[in-house]
Amino acid sequence: MVSYKELGLVNTREMFAKAIDGGYAIPAFNFNNMEQLQAIIMAAAETKSPVILQVSKGARAYANQTLLRYMAQGAVEYAKELGWEKPQICLHLDHGDSFETCKSCVDYGFSSVMIDGSSLPYDENVALTKKVVEYAHQFDVTVEAELGVLAGVEDEVSAEESHYTKPEEVVDFVSKTGCDSLAISIGTSHGAYKFKPEQCTLDPKTGRLVPPPLAFDVLEGVEKQLPGFPIVLHGSSSVPQEEVDTINAHGGKLQAAVGIPEEQLRKAAKSAVCKINIDSDSRLAMTAAVRRVFDEKPAEFDPRKYLGPARDNMKKLYIHKIVNVLGSDGKAE
Ligand SMILES: [Zn+2]
Repeated sequence: MVSYKELGLVNTREMFAKAIDGGYAIPAFNFNNMEQLQAIIMAAAETKSPVILQVSKGARAYANQTLLRYMAQGAVEYAKELGWEKPQICLHLDHGDSFETCKSCVDYGFSSVMIDGSSLPYDENVALTKKVVEYAHQFDVTVEAELGVLAGVEDEVSAEESHYTKPEEVVDFVSKTGCDSLAISIGTSHGAYKFKPEQCTLDPKTGRLVPPPLAFDVLEGVEKQLPGFPIVLHGSSSVPQEEVDTINAHGGKLQAAVGIPEEQLRKAAKSAVCKINIDSDSRLAMTAAVRRVFDEKPAEFDPRKYLGPARDNMKKLYIHKIVNVLGSDGKAE
């Protein structure tokens, strides 16, 4: 058992309280390899933004749980080396699927875990979440829960249809479980294919597909029920068209990938939404840079020569999100 406090990490409690008061949101970026982690830390250190390093169960299996723990510890030291005196870095489990997975993460130095019981009947979601909260809180680890179902596919999570969160359920759920934050469903979705073309309208000026707007009425309903309680948005990549175009121009085949427009996320960040999850955009930025090198320099075989540009491109994306979408820059001086 290792406590996240020994690793120099922080839980989400103070981060979220400040974010709600300040009208901004904390970035939660997924990672599973060194270049992604370097890019996240460089971006957060440069902008002095609190940051949540997010690991799914699949990423944990991919990278190895022991290595991940030392990577997170290394990330804190690296941030200091970059001149960020008091880094605010949280290591969070994304979509924990069982009590055992959550417990194992708490025991391995995570400072925050998500228990996703959203696919279970309501009472079972309550019971499972409560059990995780009772364990995690003994070690001052914060817990994110989920009510409502997001559509889309992301690692081991997948659902055909979304079901919006019911605002009338949230008070009962939060008071019964004691969770620290709540992921809700208001129309965001996992993956790079968030919407089918028939759900979108065509922008005649750009020829691009415009997705249906987020259900801000549901968000307002939740906020009214739970004033000041931290709300989380999953599946909030914007699927930058320039990255999709670069991928397709260099041998890729991504069709009709559609994300959440950034102005909608900007609006959400100003509300009680205080954590916004972004994964697909980083995957796209990495893939676009790698494909470009492979296509333009087919003789290149030094991984640093394509993973380096991939890292630079991800860093640029993270800084853009922090400064222009979430507004979390300068909030962890
Ligand atoms: Zn998610």
